[in-house]
Amino acid sequence: MIVMKFGGTSVKDAGMMARVIEIVQSRIASKPLVVLSAMSGVTDALVCAAEEAHQGDEKRALETFEKDVIERHTLATRELIKDSKRRKILDDSLEKHFQEIRMLLKGLAILGELTPRSLDAVLSYGEHMSTLIMTAAMQERGLGAERVDARKILITDERFTQASPIMIICEERTKKTILPLIRQKKIPVTQGFIGSTESGLVTTLGRGGSDYSAAIFGALLEAEEIEIWTDVNGVMTADPRVVKDARTIDELSYEEAAELSYFGAKVLHSKTIRPAVEKSIPLKILNTFEPDNPGTKIFKDAAEDGRTIKAITFVKKLSQVNIEGRGMLGVPGVAAKVFTAVAHENINVLMISQSSSEQSICFVVEERSTDRAVKALNEIFERELERRNIDRIHAESGIVIITAVGMGVKDTPGIFGRVFGALGRCNVNVRSIAQGSSEHNLSIVVLEKDAEKAIREIHQEFELSRAP
Ligand code: ASP
Ligand code: MG
Repeated sequence: MIVMKFGGTSVKDAGMMARVIEIVQSRIASKPLVVLSAMSGVTDALVCAAEEAHQGDEKRALETFEKDVIERHTLATRELIKDSKRRKILDDSLEKHFQEIRMLLKGLAILGELTPRSLDAVLSYGEHMSTLIMTAAMQERGLGAERVDARKILITDERFTQASPIMIICEERTKKTILPLIRQKKIPVTQGFIGSTESGLVTTLGRGGSDYSAAIFGALLEAEEIEIWTDVNGVMTADPRVVKDARTIDELSYEEAAELSYFGAKVLHSKTIRPAVEKSIPLKILNTFEPDNPGTKIFKDAAEDGRTIKAITFVKKLSQVNIEGRGMLGVPGVAAKVFTAVAHENINVLMISQSSSEQSICFVVEERSTDRAVKALNEIFERELERRNIDRIHAESGIVIITAVGMGVKDTPGIFGRVFGALGRCNVNVRSIAQGSSEHNLSIVVLEKDAEKAIREIHQEFELSRAP
């Protein structure tokens, strides 16, 4: 069997849903489990309505809900379902969901509070509604689709808005519920993103969590493959908005995919794919708009295609924080203190580097955490600053990390040289560099104004627009 997960843009309206049905139909022989996101924009609209309600503006919340949620589902239903009896049943169940959401929004407005638990309750409806419509539409087209409530099988801990599955329970439930359907040649259709606690409270796996659901179900059912259907032709060698001739990468190893997601590429997150990696299940990233495009396959034995570097990614809106001082030389524990201070503030550090003269340490954080980082460092190093062991703690914003990713980085000498050669040619100044300990990546820090030309030049240097 296989898992087919369709993201929000793949089910955004009746036209796309009809396309999805055709794609599922073409895979019937592989015995698919279908996992769906909410229609694109619906989860955002529900967040928005919940916040408006929370701020006490019940009227606005209900308007947002009416305009951005109800109308779109009603329209899709009208276009997809022609059989009047089926339509009536679907309309009734959708209306029941709408009514529950209205009540939740009113409740939030009255209480004036929005806890992670109540947010999860509201957000879960997006996936309920998309699966309701899709299941009915599949049935109308003669497919033996059957809707499965993910809350009954994806049992999680109680960390609302970012819950994790309790795999032993999920396994038992998944096998009991989904396997029999597949054996009966049915097509189970379930919700991504949502689950519930053992006591039945609705949870979500975090925004974008449907991919995670797909990987969990795939692992539990030991699927042959997990297909992630989205709106691009797989993983690209670079962001096509920056590099015009970027191309799809045919194959990636799990490690490469993980590095890419960490460094800003629009790929599956490493946490998301972990269940699949543990069972060595291949993942494919495919395009609903272009179903014949082979996309990208992510798996254990991804071919070394002779390329040292497979992709260039970047993360924007960062700051580099520098700690400088000649008195730091040989003073143990400075780095430990730096990272204790930032960790204490819950600040995510994207990259670290220390000059070998030990007279400076720098690290990169998101721009929005800059002030907090600098303040925390000034506090922790108060004495060192007074004694002038540390001269200066300062931050520079408008920073971009560019990362080159590829298994080959590890064993190929001269990669840094080629990267710097490229940067020299386009006249880009590098603020700092780092190589991840996995050695599947190499990162450089540049100023925002230089980032795009640097990316293009490195892409060119490694000839990534040519087929390997
Ligand atoms: N609908 C959820 C979201 O937008 C989950 C997903 O699409 O993966 O975050
Ligand atoms: Mg989504």
